[in-house]
Amino acid sequence: MKAFKLTLLTAALGGILITTSSGPAADAKKDSKSYPLKTCVVSDEKLGGDMGDPYIFTYKDKNNKNDPGREVRLCCKSCLKDFNKEPAKYLKKIDDAEKSAKK
Ligand SMILES: [Zn+2]
Repeated sequence: MKAFKLTLLTAALGGILITTSSGPAADAKKDSKSYPLKTCVVSDEKLGGDMGDPYIFTYKDKNNKNDPGREVRLCCKSCLKDFNKEPAKYLKKIDDAEKSAKK
């Protein structure tokens, strides 16, 4: 009887492990496909290169309440200051990249 209970417990734990490992990893793959640029819009540095993990955030236009926000990827957090100085200029770079990717 003890052995039977142990088998059930092992099966349950195995199920939990499988569920958690397949979730976030699959989402990350999907995201990298939808973003059109491989470089930082501010510095033009390669994302995820020597600088380490890219800084990813969602930019929302404060003047537009209906803005769903859009994903922006920078090579590092210090580029965020420059981005916030001229967000329209950098967002246009992403727009242009999206357009040329669709061609
Ligand atoms: Zn940077």
